[in-house]
Amino acid sequence: MKEVQAYKCDYCEKLYKVRGTCIRHEKYCRLAPNNQHACLWCSNLQKITPIDGPIQFYCPKVHKSFHTYVAERRNLKCVAITERMPLICELYENVSSLTGADLMEYLQNNYNK
Ligand SMILES: [Zn+2]
Repeated sequence: MKEVQAYKCDYCEKLYKVRGTCIRHEKYCRLAPNNQHACLWCSNLQKITPIDGPIQFYCPKVHKSFHTYVAERRNLKCVAITERMPLICELYENVSSLTGADLMEYLQNNYNK
């Protein structure tokens, strides 16, 4: 057995053997502060699921379409035409029991379908 060097994500503590892979992971880590979109916990956010394209997000309060860091990681077309979801929003409301973690799990599984 040999001991190996590894790199650990600052946010979720996952380990990587390759430094560059760890750097990329940290950029798109679910727990990274820059990926904590306020919208994902907000009741105003509307999720639109087209039959033939990726999920889209729309906020009727600010009249804007948004994408998440997951779309950036997957380099989806919507990244070029929608705004990145904000981390803080003064119109934020949460009246549902859906948690951000629930939504992120849904996104991870369904974004590309
Ligand atoms: Zn991580």
